[in-house]
Amino acid sequence: PSITRGVTVEIPKVSWEDIGGLHDLKKRLQQAVEWPIKYAATYKRLGVSPDRGILLHGPPGCSKTTLAKAAANAAQASLFSLSGAELYSMYVGEGEALLRHTFQRARLAAPSIIFFDEADVVASKRGGSSSSNISVGERLLSTLLTEMDGLEQAKGVLVLAATNRPHAIDDALMRPGRFDLVLYVPPPDLEGRHEILRVHTRKMKIGDDVDLRCIAEGTELFTGAELEGLCREAGMVALREDISATVVCDRHFQTVNQSLKPALTREEVD
Ligand code: ATP
Repeated sequence: PSITRGVTVEIPKVSWEDIGGLHDLKKRLQQAVEWPIKYAATYKRLGVSPDRGILLHGPPGCSKTTLAKAAANAAQASLFSLSGAELYSMYVGEGEALLRHTFQRARLAAPSIIFFDEADVVASKRGGSSSSNISVGERLLSTLLTEMDGLEQAKGVLVLAATNRPHAIDDALMRPGRFDLVLYVPPPDLEGRHEILRVHTRKMKIGDDVDLRCIAEGTELFTGAELEGLCREAGMVALREDISATVVCDRHFQTVNQSLKPALTREEVD
């Protein structure tokens, strides 16, 4: 990927198969992202305008970023990734300039997706400050609104935003023609955890005694990121135990599992 001051651009290598669980969500994203690019002529023929913005929300580590990458890969679209926190921390005027520049580049590179992580940092509900005292966040938000409205004419540019705090997003962004589709990305259920464990052990040599279903049952409240960490750590335990080890066994997974505590609480999930 190429990086210019806070934006990375790439056609990611991640595919839908690299994401465990979330089958319905993946289907929705496929339709919203891949279809308008692959079947542009049909949309035009029917006079149907595709979604311009999609908001993904849910707890950290549950694959919002990975979903954006898989969607871009499937559509063979360039992914322009920006972080709200990074834009916010820039010098006055620099964040807005970068936003405008990114939309311009994305239009030229179409089909493309602009992925906006930590969107709530710049797209928070506007305060009641007077016009002479417009905050950094408000200026960024108004730039984002202008650019999103400008996408009406642009073909093949989609904005995907991610947040852990959907309620903080300004209502102006939720109007028609902006974030038309809002999707919740939940923490994985049992089946999802099983699939995530399968994904992250695919390239590992694991012993016959490893029962991924059983590990999935014992890792309630774990996020995808934590399950990925569990697999990696189990491999490290095996390696530290015996540098000439040939497989990662159940006891290695158990050693790690006993020392891990999920960051999510039951109240956050229910
Ligand atoms: P944040 O809100 O912190 O940005 P996020 O929701 O965007 O988090 P990701 O960055 O996509 O989460 O995921 C973090 C890591 O966890 C990734 O490396 C990914 O491989 C892994 N992961 C998360 N969910 C899944 C999943 N469903 N299947 C496979 N891997 C997953």
